[in-house]
Amino acid sequence: IKANREIRQAFYSDTIRQNILHVNEIESQMQLALKNGEFKMYIQPKTDTHHNHRIMGGEVLVRWQKSDGTIIPPNDFIPIFERNGFIVLLDRYMFASACKWLHDYFENHTHRIHLAVNVSRLDIFQEDFISYYVSIKEQYELCDDVIELEFTESLAIEDHALLSAKISELRTHGFLCSIDDFGAGYSSLNTLKELPIQVIKLDILFFRKGASIEKARIIVSHIIHLAKQLHIAVVAEGIEEPDQVYFLEKCGCDIIQGYVFAKPMPANDFKKLLLKDPVG
Ligand code: C2E
Ligand code: CA
Ligand code: CA
Ligand code: CA
Repeated sequence: IKANREIRQAFYSDTIRQNILHVNEIESQMQLALKNGEFKMYIQPKTDTHHNHRIMGGEVLVRWQKSDGTIIPPNDFIPIFERNGFIVLLDRYMFASACKWLHDYFENHTHRIHLAVNVSRLDIFQEDFISYYVSIKEQYELCDDVIELEFTESLAIEDHALLSAKISELRTHGFLCSIDDFGAGYSSLNTLKELPIQVIKLDILFFRKGASIEKARIIVSHIIHLAKQLHIAVVAEGIEEPDQVYFLEKCGCDIIQGYVFAKPMPANDFKKLLLKDPVG
């Protein structure tokens, strides 16, 4: 038994050591990576169920592309950046990249698409939060309602009053605001009541295969119905199967994002895809 425990402890401390090494490596490289443009903007298309699934915009998702070409997915570094505060810089960089991209796109195209970017919890506590986002939007001369800011539901629950005030203010500056991972937390209904949001994004777990698939569908159809009456648009993300698309269409879901249409892709590929779209 004793030998067993020692092996187990050795194993645990080894994985802990690995984790620390991983965190150290990421933290020692992040500043330079930002400066060198290693954080790339990927975009996942969103399609409009009311217009024959034409692309109406996309969500900006970061990928860390190392100089040797390897790509690190966000789940490997976003949690670390959320703990050390670097996420504020990264989110602002991604937001500015998205604004520049839209500015360049609108110079040559009339198709009014929009981009959604993720905003982490830490940023809304910064004194210059609103003024930074507004100044970049103005710098790139973007019109209203082409940038959507996604806040996660866990944030909405913890800092209700603050987030509510920030969203109202962002709204007056022409930002669309949405709640991401909606339905994953405990007080979703309160979120709908209290926050002046325009969009909810249903949590991806509603659409994962499992024993409770029928229950999930009943809940989803009722959330969509509820949101409609509150004049809040609904995005379903993580949609992989055509039969999920039919179901969501039938429920009146407005926007679909998922592998069934396309995975996140480099911003340039997204532009090419838009140009192929008949209305693009
Ligand atoms: P999220 O904001 O909930 O983004 C949706 C995630 O679902 C993305 O993962 C997307 O690639 C994935 N997804 C979309 N459709 C499907 C599908 O049909 N099937 C499956 N299995 N997955 C699908 P990704 O890009 O790995 O990002 C993971 C999370 O990292 C994001 O979750 C978000 O919380 C965070 N993240 C990504 N980029 C940023 C960023 O620039 N800033 C911040 N603060 N967070 C980011
Ligand atoms: Ca998101
Ligand atoms: Ca999320
Ligand atoms: Ca989500």
